[in-house]
Amino acid sequence: MRLTPDVCLVGGGRFGFSLTSPGDCHVYLLDGGDDLALIDAGIGGVAGDPELILREIRRDGYDPARIAHLFLTHYHTDHMGGAAQLRALLGCEVHGSPLTARTLQAGDERQISLPEAKRAGYFPEDYVLHSCPCAGDLTEGDTLAVGNLSLRVIETPGHAAGHVSFLVEGGAKTYLLQGDVIFFGGTVFLQNTHDCSIQEYAQSVDKLAELDFDAHLPGHLGISLDDGKRHIMAAKATFDALGVPKNLV
Ligand SMILES: [Zn+2]
Repeated sequence: MRLTPDVCLVGGGRFGFSLTSPGDCHVYLLDGGDDLALIDAGIGGVAGDPELILREIRRDGYDPARIAHLFLTHYHTDHMGGAAQLRALLGCEVHGSPLTARTLQAGDERQISLPEAKRAGYFPEDYVLHSCPCAGDLTEGDTLAVGNLSLRVIETPGHAAGHVSFLVEGGAKTYLLQGDVIFFGGTVFLQNTHDCSIQEYAQSVDKLAELDFDAHLPGHLGISLDDGKRHIMAAKATFDALGVPKNLV
């Protein structure tokens, strides 16, 4: 589903537009002209079907074989679980923060709180995190090129350790792709997991509030193509008042 000349939404489940498998996060395709890249991988495994993401890519007029890079915002199952299968299908290189890369390469289900998430009923009992090679080369301030688009890496822990966001410049709009940090209306996503931190969350939101961008492209729920910063500022106002913004769960 085309959002702008540079960005298509090619995956998303029941907390989104129901384009692909119900457990998928929003999966974005970035079109930099000569280069294409994906942001996040969806759930994959027994709970997902990455072929549906490829179907959406083709529907938007692209040859999936042109996708050279998959960038992961964080290691949660709905964002990273499909990485190994997409890598095999596309022959693309997978990138994450150093912690995300270590976790994916080791198939470390404890780090991503998969046992707890299964107990809570979010994933089927037989779901397995498939490991694959992943470059741990996304660190604060790095700038990556996807054709004529530039991606600046911003470390945004709080929802999960090792979470990164991307400020994308050089296209028709400026985009903030920020996984599960802030959702429509300034909603946050705090969970009762070992790596969730309210203080780190607030510091990450402060960093995002310093950025200039048009479009707010989160990992689930509503998308704003203009004036997207209002969602970040709404959360910041509550954190600044020593409160905790409205939570997703
Ligand atoms: Zn998450």
